[in-house]
Amino acid sequence: MTGQLWLISTPIGNMDDLPPRAVNTLQACALICCEDTRHSGKLLANAGVRGVRLAVANEHTESDRTAEVLELLAAGSDVAVVTDAGTPGISDPGARLVRAAVAAGHRVSAVPGPAALVMGLVLSGFDTTRFVFEGFLPRTGRDRAERIASIAAERRTVVMYESPHRVRRTVNDLLAACGTDRGIALARELTKLHEETWRGNLADAAQHLLDQAPRGEFVLVVEGASPQPLATDEAISGALRMALASGVDRRTAIATVIATTGAAKRRVYDLALSIPR
Ligand code: SAM
Repeated sequence: MTGQLWLISTPIGNMDDLPPRAVNTLQACALICCEDTRHSGKLLANAGVRGVRLAVANEHTESDRTAEVLELLAAGSDVAVVTDAGTPGISDPGARLVRAAVAAGHRVSAVPGPAALVMGLVLSGFDTTRFVFEGFLPRTGRDRAERIASIAAERRTVVMYESPHRVRRTVNDLLAACGTDRGIALARELTKLHEETWRGNLADAAQHLLDQAPRGEFVLVVEGASPQPLATDEAISGALRMALASGVDRRTAIATVIATTGAAKRRVYDLALSIPR
């Protein structure tokens, strides 16, 4: 019998959010892969897990750890993966070790638990039946502009992660691409003492972040776009200008406006021709 790879979710702020099954599973492993041995060492000591070796498998070293993990699994030992907070593999290391273990024919399972994206989504009040997770947006450049343009056109609820230093800029960029009325929830410090979920539209969110210096890590949840089949020529031209101002090229701007307004392709192309380059 070979060993099993375990993905173990850990608290995103409240240390009581580590269930007994997570503690028992961690205690039964031969090795716990983590991002930071000091950080996870404290969590394990707090939970009473003793004598299990910790090894670093962060975004840079996860692949280097693979051979050792596969050897232990082949020898019949269980191995756990934890990260600094939440569910491994969600904007965190873990997925590469899962792929390697699956490819080598080992069993992989998880002890599920906190994931900021799920908590932010369900607290937002927006449609939860269909949603997309964007993780962290690219910080600059064309990739960022294209991702924001695609969020502007997205009909499903969109969930993102953001740090306190960049949240203002991201909300302002979303405002420029999606317009003032689109709904947004800003969920921060989830499960912590100062947990807060602010809900409103993008214009008010930008103002809210100006009134109060952003603190703590954020989950941003943007309401899905509603189609506007009866858009006027002025509205289409305005949407094209706004998309171009966000930094995307003309093709992306046209595609975004077709998706958000539901207007015919030919009509949007013709209106784009009248906007100076
Ligand atoms: N694996 C984690 C998970 O399952 O949620 C996410 C790790 S990612 C490196 C860290 C980001 O998750 C933060 O920048 C923030 O956007 C979000 N996050 C983590 N904990 C949070 C909390 N308590 N409140 C709000 N957002 C949080």
